[in-house]
Amino acid sequence: MERAREAFQMKGLKLTPLRQSVLREIAASHKAIGAYEVLDRLARRGERLAPISVYRAIEALVSAGIVHRFESRNAFFVCHAGHQMRQLVLACEACGRVAEADADAVFAAIDSCTGRAGFAPKGAVVEVWGLCASCGGEEREPAHGG
Ligand SMILES: [Zn+2]
Ligand SMILES: [Zn+2]
Repeated sequence: MERAREAFQMKGLKLTPLRQSVLREIAASHKAIGAYEVLDRLARRGERLAPISVYRAIEALVSAGIVHRFESRNAFFVCHAGHQMRQLVLACEACGRVAEADADAVFAAIDSCTGRAGFAPKGAVVEVWGLCASCGGEEREPAHGG
């Protein structure tokens, strides 16, 4: 939450109570969650909000670099590293966990490809699906049945 506050301050924005509540719900999930799920969770806590307020709060968190959008699912997850423009997202198909990996080599490759095309990249999000370490990773042993 402290890092979030700093990130907002750097942009001259405020981490309002609504943004804090939304961030708390997204941070409480290991999975990427959609805006409606955030809305539901807040409603269960007795915070009834208009969808548009939640969308705006999420957008503010995304633009501050605190939350990333998981593009292919239109869902959101908390960033622990503070990147904004470049993300390598690892999504587990078994448990739904979303994580990020260091990806300097990936983005260096993207830079050289885009450079050859005469293109100046501003941002890149690479999403990779598969199995996380606790769901089997390389060896596809059925760890927990059911
Ligand atoms: Zn990140
Ligand atoms: Zn998993």
